[in-house]
Amino acid sequence: MNRNKCIANIKAGYLFPEVAKRRREYAQAHPDAKIISLGIGNTTEPILPHIDRGLTEGAAKLATFEGYSGYQDEGIAELRERISKVFYKGQFGIDEIFISDGAKCDIGRLQLMFGAQTPAAVQDPSYPVYVDGSVLIGAGGGWEDSGYKGITYLPCTAENDYFPDLSALKPNCLIYFCSPNNPTGAVAGREQLAVLVRAAQKNGSFIIFDAAYSEYIRDSGLPKSIFEIDEAKTCAIEVNSFSKPAGFTGVRLGWTVVSKELKYSGGESVNADWSRIASTVFNGASNISQAGGMAALDSEGLAEIRKLSDFYLGNARLIRNVLVKAGIVCTGGDNSPYIWARFPGRDSWEVFTEILEKCQVITTPGSGFGPSGQSFIRFSAFGHRADVEEACERLKKL
Ligand code: PLP
Repeated sequence: MNRNKCIANIKAGYLFPEVAKRRREYAQAHPDAKIISLGIGNTTEPILPHIDRGLTEGAAKLATFEGYSGYQDEGIAELRERISKVFYKGQFGIDEIFISDGAKCDIGRLQLMFGAQTPAAVQDPSYPVYVDGSVLIGAGGGWEDSGYKGITYLPCTAENDYFPDLSALKPNCLIYFCSPNNPTGAVAGREQLAVLVRAAQKNGSFIIFDAAYSEYIRDSGLPKSIFEIDEAKTCAIEVNSFSKPAGFTGVRLGWTVVSKELKYSGGESVNADWSRIASTVFNGASNISQAGGMAALDSEGLAEIRKLSDFYLGNARLIRNVLVKAGIVCTGGDNSPYIWARFPGRDSWEVFTEILEKCQVITTPGSGFGPSGQSFIRFSAFGHRADVEEACERLKKL
């Protein structure tokens, strides 16, 4: 059996295993060090009581004749309806909302659906799955000396307000766009998203809009969904998740919106293809998770989502304040749980090592998110408050 060449094409180890490896090595060399992680975006706080009751009651129902359920393919209708109402003012029918086991898993399945012939464009820096998953399916062609030719990197820097120049877009490509952004914490404004939609329409491309952090937006003027923009239904798919707002990183629950108005250039329905993919290589999200999702989206659950995201935003404020006081230029941390800190002229992994050695704090090197992340460090606000406070004390040494 020969190895899949596309796997060999993935450049280095996935970013977070590499961070974990370096943490392990440091811990082995310094067994007494109390390392604090502000690195990986994994949630740390317990699920709040009302949402937890939804999960436990969902599990209990499975032990009854009346409440038992098996496969539910595209998700329970009530949850799809509630998602449409809560997040999209009811503008989507239940057959346009697909429940999943998480946004990352759906991104992988979308990559499978669009296949090897479709090139990709990504914000640079961006969540690594867009690039690595595209390379894995051989999206848009193979390697050239200059890099992977099927992927266009769209630099997002302080100079362009973290919104890319879209003139570099190739026709007929998938544009991955994440707002609030992981890792920069930047949130695109309404006019910027309108520019993105127009650019996609103009060159026959689709947008994969990743709104996994939308519940962290506090500025009421900022859009939480691509579907707040006119005509986005004809050129965008949105993925979203219960992971970061409800603490479901381990529970696993997300959704994808594919409007029936979304059509390929030949007029075929993308919604019908997505339904086919969902029933071919996926068998639906856990019915227990979905019961938790139902609880998360009633009034008590939404209040808990607000409380939990407020807590992490409180952490973000502490981290940002300490960095700004140290004279470090930062973005994010106000409408997002990530703070993007700039260390001009420095190599990201070198700064990562310096912070680990001086402060015993784990961060994520910006260069791991793309070439424009060089000289940046991402600080994550996911942590227990006492750990974040302790980490902030130590970061004063920088
Ligand atoms: N999208 C972004 C931008 C993320 O940062 C993450 C997780 O860190 C995910 C998606 C993954 O979401 P899920 O847990 O629903 O798979």
